[in-house]
Amino acid sequence: MAEKAENTVKTDILIVGGGMAGCSLACALAGAGFEIVIIDRLDQSSQTEDTFDGRASAIAEASKKMLDQIGMWRHLGQNYTPILDIRVADGDSRLFLHYNHEDIGEKALGFMVENRHFRRAVFTRLRELEKARYLAPAQLEDIARGPEGVKARLIDGRQIEAALVVGADGRSSQIREEANIKLTQWSYHQTGIVLSVDHEIPHHNVAHEHFLPAGPFAILPLSGPNGDNTRSSIVWTEKDELVEGIMAMSDQDFAAEFEQRFGDFLGAATFIGPRWTYPLTLQYAETSVAERLVLVGDSSHGMHPIAGQGLNMGLRDVAALAEVLIDARRLGLDIGTSHVLDDYEQWRRFDNTLMLAMTDGLNRLFSNDIAPIKLVRDIGLAAVNKAGPLKKVFMQHAMGATGNLPRLLKGEAL
Ligand SMILES: Cc1cc2nc3c(=O)[nH]c(=O)nc-3n(C[C@H](O)[C@H](O)[C@H](O)COP(=O)(O)OP(=O)(O)OC[C@H]3O[C@@H](n4cnc5c(N)ncnc54)[C@H](O)[C@@H]3O)c2cc1C
Repeated sequence: MAEKAENTVKTDILIVGGGMAGCSLACALAGAGFEIVIIDRLDQSSQTEDTFDGRASAIAEASKKMLDQIGMWRHLGQNYTPILDIRVADGDSRLFLHYNHEDIGEKALGFMVENRHFRRAVFTRLRELEKARYLAPAQLEDIARGPEGVKARLIDGRQIEAALVVGADGRSSQIREEANIKLTQWSYHQTGIVLSVDHEIPHHNVAHEHFLPAGPFAILPLSGPNGDNTRSSIVWTEKDELVEGIMAMSDQDFAAEFEQRFGDFLGAATFIGPRWTYPLTLQYAETSVAERLVLVGDSSHGMHPIAGQGLNMGLRDVAALAEVLIDARRLGLDIGTSHVLDDYEQWRRFDNTLMLAMTDGLNRLFSNDIAPIKLVRDIGLAAVNKAGPLKKVFMQHAMGATGNLPRLLKGEAL
């Protein structure tokens, strides 16, 4: 990385947004020899505090292969929990869907990783990479893109010159707005209440998704501090108008509401730490490329967490973009030109649109209590459960093993 004038840094790629997608991209690219500057408005220590983000993410098997390849996974240590089975039930119906890792001969269907552990591991990996430089807290004052390159000025006066800027700055992306990329969005009028619980009976690494009229209630397996399997992460989807009241309840009243949904199959539950809320919306950018600019992760597509796929889609963006840029460099091409970036756009557009449509459709189909719809979907769940080949297709999709996979997602080096 060359320091030009005292406060100007010249680099190959500027990544704006050091969240899980942006940092994974920085690891992939810096590991392959690109000079990277990554900026975030928040410093790393505030992003890894236990109170910053209460979520845990279901990481698909293919995403795990990529995180392994880019050198991040080993820094998780023991901080991940395999998902062996997934059980999907529709309210009180006796018809259900059961995915089992043994049906497809895999060791696990995916892995639960708490976001704070993901961030800590990816930051540790970044610190090992000489070619990656993380600047935070840092924010853009302005940015100019043109045929010759990108010039960014930070609020503190520092300047960064690069061949390409990547917007990994989440749902309210400044980079997307600066480029006037049109955004389509709608609210589900639902909020995800997120919390962790310890329970008396072990979860045996099974993830449960119960479809309730207000939305899905997910019980996702975590490991407790001693590695025991009696801790779970909860995503309780509720109608927006009820959430304020629920969050303001006394512990006793909250526990009573919670138990109605959680049931008793895992025994009594004890709440761990605070409760968080996340408003649930769908949004997608009209395009994820512009002159010398690319969007990855939530800045390009934000989806309902019903299938636990938002971050996985962001990591698929990362794998595809890294491959396109590395191949372009091998051919001696300018990495910021439109025909290089268009390859990325074409590769990712269909997959992202399909997942947005699937998560949107699932939420609409299941988040209601209309009797004829409930009957049809329950028969559908039971039919998929019995149909071996179809069930396998769904499982492979959830594991991220379908479609035209970039090399990193197959566990191959770039
Ligand atoms: C309740 C819930 C459960 C979920 N569960 C799952 C799951 O199980 N599996 C899964 O795959 N996905 C899941 N998701 C989705 C997943 O959390 C997101 O897709 C993922 O966090 C997006 O990561 P990102 O890095 O793209 O964006 P963000 O996490 O939003 O990161 C953006 C980064 O950019 C920084 N930033 C923003 N603006 C600027 C700026 N102007 N300048 C500098 N920096 C900036 C921010 O500080 C942040 O660090 C879930 C989502 C919710 C709401």
